[in-house]
Amino acid sequence: MSWFSRKEKGIVTPTASKLDAPDGLWYQCPSCKKAIHTREHRLFAYTCSGCNYHEKIGSQDYFELLFDNSLYTELDPMMGSGDPLEFTDTKKYTDRIKATEYNTGLKDAVRTAYGEINGLPITISAMDFNFIGGSMGSVVGEKITRGMRHSLETGKPFLMISRSGGARMMEAGFSLMQMAKTSSLIALLAEAKIPYISLMTNPTTGGVTASFAMLGDFNIAEPGALIGFAGPRVIKETIGKDLPKGFQSAEFVEEHGFLDFIVDRKDLKDKLSSLLGMLK
Ligand SMILES: [Zn+2]
Repeated sequence: MSWFSRKEKGIVTPTASKLDAPDGLWYQCPSCKKAIHTREHRLFAYTCSGCNYHEKIGSQDYFELLFDNSLYTELDPMMGSGDPLEFTDTKKYTDRIKATEYNTGLKDAVRTAYGEINGLPITISAMDFNFIGGSMGSVVGEKITRGMRHSLETGKPFLMISRSGGARMMEAGFSLMQMAKTSSLIALLAEAKIPYISLMTNPTTGGVTASFAMLGDFNIAEPGALIGFAGPRVIKETIGKDLPKGFQSAEFVEEHGFLDFIVDRKDLKDKLSSLLGMLK
């Protein structure tokens, strides 16, 4: 018998009495479990100081990280989605949009803004994954297209930051049309010799990969990002073979010639400005 035995069973501390660190002060890396102070995490551009895991961030964070002094002008901030097909799945599409707007404070899955990166003017569209999986509907396509048009008018480069599950199911055909629409604007940028850089972040899949994400003059990615069209299970079933290790990771995609380079988010701003400087 042990020297100590618990007399009472089932002692529990009510949640209200548990002493926790103030909410939001610490961030735990989902990959290596290291606890990092949120201030340090932000200082490292939301990457882990232990294993370099790149946390998923949204348009606001990218704009603040990239634009000089976090100063930028947003284009079409109030553009919101319609419901052309009067679509309903588990709930009405209009209700889903309303709920997502409320929960995220966003109007749709992409935001576009222009400003300067280390003194070089640029227009940037950045996607928000927490708005219906960063799915590409009519608003996403239209806002990106307008951003590219802004680049055409000003003659300044365009950067696309993708993070998306693909086309937006609730807009079906309308969603697929955005692939052609954005691609045609990219062709116009090429004709006008305006640089178009595509940054793929975790994850970039489906119709987004099959259109504007892979059409950059420079296709670049963040480390460890999942990049692909269909998911690995679908591919495995189609070809009837096991897939190689690391399949669809940015590193694998780069090794097979589909990416120009992988860029650590901490170096993104400087890498972009040196690249844009060379293209001037
Ligand atoms: Zn880590």
